[in-house]
Amino acid sequence: MSTEQIDPVSPEVVPKVGSRPTVRVPAVSALQRFDRNQHRSKTLPAVLFVSLAVHALVLGVCALIVFKHPQLIEEIFTTVTDPESASDPISEQSMLQTDDLNQQQFSPESMISNETASQLQADIKGPIDLNVSDSIPQIESDSSDLPGIAGIKIGEETSGRMSANVKRSMVQKFGGNSASEAAVASGMKWLTNHQLPNGSWSFEHSKHVDCKGQCSQDGSFKSCPTGATGLALLAFLGGGHTHKSGDYQREVKRGIDFLIKSGKSAGVGLDLRGKTVANEGMYVQGLCTIALCECAAMTKDSRVKKAAEGAIDFIVQAQHPEDGGWRYDRLQPGDTSVVGWQVMALKSGYDAKLKFAPQAFKNAESFLKRAGVDGGARYVYFPGSAEPGEGGALPTPTMTAVGLLCRMYMGWDHKNKKLAEGVAYLDTVKPDPNNLYFNYYATQVMHHWGGEEWKRWNEVMRDQLVRTQHPLKDGHMGGSWDIADPHGGGGGRLYMTCLSVMTLEVYYRHLPMYSRENIKVEF
Ligand SMILES: [Zn+2]
Repeated sequence: MSTEQIDPVSPEVVPKVGSRPTVRVPAVSALQRFDRNQHRSKTLPAVLFVSLAVHALVLGVCALIVFKHPQLIEEIFTTVTDPESASDPISEQSMLQTDDLNQQQFSPESMISNETASQLQADIKGPIDLNVSDSIPQIESDSSDLPGIAGIKIGEETSGRMSANVKRSMVQKFGGNSASEAAVASGMKWLTNHQLPNGSWSFEHSKHVDCKGQCSQDGSFKSCPTGATGLALLAFLGGGHTHKSGDYQREVKRGIDFLIKSGKSAGVGLDLRGKTVANEGMYVQGLCTIALCECAAMTKDSRVKKAAEGAIDFIVQAQHPEDGGWRYDRLQPGDTSVVGWQVMALKSGYDAKLKFAPQAFKNAESFLKRAGVDGGARYVYFPGSAEPGEGGALPTPTMTAVGLLCRMYMGWDHKNKKLAEGVAYLDTVKPDPNNLYFNYYATQVMHHWGGEEWKRWNEVMRDQLVRTQHPLKDGHMGGSWDIADPHGGGGGRLYMTCLSVMTLEVYYRHLPMYSRENIKVEF
């Protein structure tokens, strides 16, 4: 949230609110002159009537402001009531080259057919009506908006999720629909129903006192509450819900509190891995760090920001110094899958304006160069492996999606031929109903890439996820997704549900990168 956003002295507000005396004074003054001309007693009712009318007019103007700018009013109150957010020191470092950005334009393009949306809405969900298939809401722009998307602030990656109106606009613009938004809401309901009394979530979701085994497919990572909590938080945060705003403030607050309390400071940053039982350690650190960074970026909460800085520090210090990658434990030569989560975490830290050594990105880039084949159009899991198969030196669709997303964040743009080749490759693979991990990453790549490739991908991906979610009539299981991933056993139903929700939040979770193609981030 930029200072422009939370500044209550906005030119949109003040003239209207401040117009109250301007309107009232001349009206009363005229009435006083009228009174002096010998009709004082007869005109008293008229005075009252005019006074009432003026007050009604002023109230009407105020109501209009509240109706048209609910987020603005919320921000004003947040600023007034929350000294932390008002005084939190934010780095002055500019993250975007705004001159370049101002030259950008979105091509407005609606990506869904109304028939598809209404058919899915009729087929699938219960009473949730999010009404996103209506016309794009009119959102008034101001000078700090990203060109083409009113309501999204320049340099504020997460700002699109924070306003219901902007979210609706982005769902419409980038290819979501009522059914996809209903699926997100149902997924969050399932997550809410499985949050434990201490604020955490567990991959053993069936142990929840209300669930009592009604929901199958517990994950095998039984002692990994930070990982489960980080994932659940990402699903809520991806929809713009924080502990300070949105529909799940209580859930997010308890989750964030649990995560921060669970972190261990041991001289190498904030360790959020908890007690690892298999190879999940750095995965957990990565996704928990993303959750803290996103929350810090969205709320400017200094306590969360401090934890996020510690978590980023841990990642930076866990990177293998020569290899440039990360693996299951600290300082191991990397694999592309674990590297993907750490690069996403560093990117989130960057968006949250946290300070860390830029060399971490450079080192990760050198790892990715070695993990890439065909000049970086496709990626292997474990560079340098003697194994020729999928676990080694053979490129796979999943590792290609992870690798390409990382390269996009590191500066590859639309003009890069290898990126174009990689996207064309993913376009031929198509969403895989049995590999959600692949889908999650590939959806982000295709979303950022845009165009016909994204349209083709999204129509299949969106509807596939909506169709495979348990409907609310399935009782406690309603709103969740079954395991549909060869490596989904560790995280089970909770992991699948979080990844599915996050995939369906793609329309507003991140701004499509090439809407601002000329923006170069210098590391
Ligand atoms: Zn359950």
